[in-house]
Amino acid sequence: MSKSKPYRVCPNCGCNLDPGERCDCKERAELDAAKEAAQLAADLTHIDRREPVLMPGA
Ligand SMILES: [Zn+2]
Repeated sequence: MSKSKPYRVCPNCGCNLDPGERCDCKERAELDAAKEAAQLAADLTHIDRREPVLMPGA
């Protein structure tokens, strides 16, 4: 018997999916990207918030 494949392979991550099943690798990647962006923004904010060093009593 040569039926069509009983499962699909995610073109993104290569994992096996049931017909009609959606792989969540993209969502995870987006989440990771969002996390990374948030982290970056947080880092930048942190750096930006650094108070300038003033010489006391100069
Ligand atoms: Zn995938």
